[in-house]
Amino acid sequence: MLYDVAIAGVSANLVFTYDSEFELELGERVVVDLNGRKVKGYVIGKVEFSRKKVKTILERIDGFSFITPADLELAKWLSSQYFSPVGKLLDLFLPSYIDKYLETYVEPATALVGFNRMKINEFLQSKSEDELRKLLKKGYAKLTKYREGFKIPRIATEKRFVTLAENPSDLFDKVKSQLEYEIVNYLMYAKTAKTEQILETFGITIRELQKLTDRNILRFSEIAFSVPDHESLHLEKFQLPADRCMLYGADDLTRLKIISEEIQKVIQNGRSVLYLAPYSSQAVKLAGVANILFESKIAIFHADLTNARKALVWLTAYSGQPCLFFATRIGVFLPIANLGLVVVESEEEGGYYQSVEPVYDAVEAAWKKASLYQVPFISLSSSGRVKSFVKFEKANRYDISLENPKVFVEQLQERKQAISSRLIDLLKECVHKGKGAVLISKRKNYAPHVVCFACGALLKCPNCDISLSYDGTGKALKCHQCGWKEPAKSICPVCGAPALYPVGIGAQRVEKILKYHLPDVNVQIIDLEELESKSLLDTLIKFQSGTIDVLIITQPVAHVLSLPRVGLVAVLDFDGFLNQPDYASIERTIQFVRKMTQVNKDAVIIFQTQNVNKDVILNFVKEKLEKLFESELIRRKSQEYPPFCDLIQIILEASDPNIGWEMIQNLASRIRSAETLGPVEHPLFRIGGKYRYHMILKTKQLEQTLAEISELLKFADKRGFKIFVNPPKLL
Ligand SMILES: [Zn+2]
Ligand SMILES: [Zn+2]
Repeated sequence: MLYDVAIAGVSANLVFTYDSEFELELGERVVVDLNGRKVKGYVIGKVEFSRKKVKTILERIDGFSFITPADLELAKWLSSQYFSPVGKLLDLFLPSYIDKYLETYVEPATALVGFNRMKINEFLQSKSEDELRKLLKKGYAKLTKYREGFKIPRIATEKRFVTLAENPSDLFDKVKSQLEYEIVNYLMYAKTAKTEQILETFGITIRELQKLTDRNILRFSEIAFSVPDHESLHLEKFQLPADRCMLYGADDLTRLKIISEEIQKVIQNGRSVLYLAPYSSQAVKLAGVANILFESKIAIFHADLTNARKALVWLTAYSGQPCLFFATRIGVFLPIANLGLVVVESEEEGGYYQSVEPVYDAVEAAWKKASLYQVPFISLSSSGRVKSFVKFEKANRYDISLENPKVFVEQLQERKQAISSRLIDLLKECVHKGKGAVLISKRKNYAPHVVCFACGALLKCPNCDISLSYDGTGKALKCHQCGWKEPAKSICPVCGAPALYPVGIGAQRVEKILKYHLPDVNVQIIDLEELESKSLLDTLIKFQSGTIDVLIITQPVAHVLSLPRVGLVAVLDFDGFLNQPDYASIERTIQFVRKMTQVNKDAVIIFQTQNVNKDVILNFVKEKLEKLFESELIRRKSQEYPPFCDLIQIILEASDPNIGWEMIQNLASRIRSAETLGPVEHPLFRIGGKYRYHMILKTKQLEQTLAEISELLKFADKRGFKIFVNPPKLL
């Protein structure tokens, strides 16, 4: 029989036909010969005949497929939509860390050998390795694997948080002393507390606390309920009729509450929910809340977990145990055996688009997964994507937007002010009331630019077309693209005047200004790229409890803005978040403004801007989203931009600018099935010493255009080309 095999782990989409004497399962792993090398691949389809002479599959790795037919379809579909290699996509469904947990069995070839199938380590308890080797060599026994044959990863349960083990009313019978009664009572309201906090509050030792967990009164947990506002968690009734719907407005917690009945139904049917969030810390937070709302197993899945932990979640999914999976984009690749519902939170976030190979858009992948598994799909967001207003019928879109929050727009003078005096006043008022403030600044350094006040020169990175930023802590000049770093200086390299000054708004500078105006407040900068979810969670708990008054964050993350203690949110440099202009600029600006104004109805919101018109921002705040997106769709249609076509960005990176230009020109001139814009120099032409060109293709036949590109690149030097289909912004 002939099979198509996709080669694993390689950048190119390599699919070749091989022969096998066995009936293979689609999706199963095999070893094949590729140009004289033994490589791993996946069986992705049966083939009727082949004109060429084909090689034989060398080895079946598992003897069956771990990948479901629906997930195999999903991988192929993603490959056809995003120009990503099928082999690399399938690697995400069956990550190599799983191999460690696959049990190997010794199976007798005939009944005469005198033993039954058993795990290899059990076999070796009674017989020597030598004997096993002989049996295998003579063909009396073979090593096999089974679909359900797994070792369960051993993971020390972390004892970070404590919760009640069961319903408080049932617990009061188990409680023996006044102290125990008090702890249960406390946790009845707090729901979750840090372990140290309980030890401190009640003056007990960890051993005493452990006795309570042994008696099943308390249990340790890894997730905290970081928003101790349980009053607001009363379930609201909301009937979502269709199997495809979107809900926009308000904050992530409110949205989770609203769909909680739908989730409940899925759990009652013994099935699982895949709930995606753009940030791991948001997934953790939502999991913490779900912990309270639902009596169900809950798992968290994201790329930063240890392999053992990831394997545990993967095996839970694979085993079909009913579970709520809270995951980042990588969660669409979980092999959830009894999937009952797919939820995507904050679909407008750029983080759903993976821009390193294999490229994919997890929101589109989740949508496709839901249809392949024939389960409902719910999209939750503060604004959603313009595209969704076409995808979801009007009857399936629910507007739960909050009415006009308190919003100010402050026009700043260029390069002079970092914080307006109105913002200072409002900050003082906010802190005075015992509330906390969140300031959003795109740059984490002291200042994003260094300028000579004598000649006007702007210091640039020697490798990139990017201005150097000034880092106040390290007293250094840095390039955020290539990592170039040099000591700070005061003499201008152009005119020699001692007149170099840092300009623009950076988090460190803001911190310094705040210390001057409000000397007593505690300020903390969070750089979300550097922080893993746990330390972020700690910071958020400190903020919520009042130990930190002002958070400066480099990205407007909804779940930080929605913390109940937030009384003020300020975007310090709105212009900095708008990126380079492209066809989606208006959509991104609307999404940004809506996110800021929807997540926290009690906070004052301030936008500081240099170049954006005040009325434009206020219109985005007050107008119905439906209307804003409708007029954006009219504009897109008239100019033929997505969703009325597909857009492919091709970037070429070359060491020699002339050769690079020649290569991309050549490619552009040969494309027939798409309208070509460019090629031109990329707005960031030189990065890390390399030169970049890009072009945009508009196509109405995506798969055909991608096939054309693939064909053309076969004859060109493929290295250096990067292809992005419908990226959230031009990269
Ligand atoms: Zn100068
Ligand atoms: Zn650089």
